[in-house]
Amino acid sequence: MLIIKLFPCLMDNYGFLIHDSETGATATIDTPEAAKINAVLAEEGWTLSEIWNTHHHFDHVGGNLELAAQHGAIIRGPADDAGRIAGLTHGVSGGESFLFGGHEVRVIKTPGHTTSHIIFHVPSAHDGQGAAFVGDTIFVMGCGRLFEGTPEDMFESMAKIAALPASTKLYCAHEYTLSNGKFALTIEPENADLIAYMDTAKALRSKGLPTVPTSVAQEAKINPFMRAASGSRLGEIRKAKDNF
Ligand SMILES: [Zn+2]
Repeated sequence: MLIIKLFPCLMDNYGFLIHDSETGATATIDTPEAAKINAVLAEEGWTLSEIWNTHHHFDHVGGNLELAAQHGAIIRGPADDAGRIAGLTHGVSGGESFLFGGHEVRVIKTPGHTTSHIIFHVPSAHDGQGAAFVGDTIFVMGCGRLFEGTPEDMFESMAKIAALPASTKLYCAHEYTLSNGKFALTIEPENADLIAYMDTAKALRSKGLPTVPTSVAQEAKINPFMRAASGSRLGEIRKAKDNF
């Protein structure tokens, strides 16, 4: 069985650990904060065997060297980022898969936020419903800033996420939900699902609870970036969000 732990890191990042209870294999998705990750490992009695990096930004790879040295963990990440991801041992480009404690993990390339951003899809997580660790590609009601890629890149990346099974849980790397929702309502003020979900999100956040994970089915209803009909429309919405 696969167990996923989510915990806040830094200002508004989420850390994630995935653990296979049969083999003991444990991976951290990105390394926002080594001390927090170590604390959760100790609490659960898990030993870190792998680090999976989604992209090269410091709040995703900053703990790589410390954790790898401490635990002897391998580091999987975008091969194109070998020069900007410290300690990378297993470069991947998207399209391939690997085994984690006997479970298939698929690597999907999702450029946009960065040119070589990847996400990790674990189809057998959550009793076969699947989980995807999406880094800074998609957020609840939002998408990552286009630092390196084009709106067309992000449009295609969104389409790849939308094409995963609807029940797939999406583990977004930041808690941006309330501010994203405020903006999303300016794009789709009459979207009843969006209006209703905002109440849910406000209730969760007022109790200090995460709105992550979301799901493919939910984002298809409330995410204006996933719902954009074209790359150019996504680009317009992204530009409006940048100035919001
Ligand atoms: Zn980033």
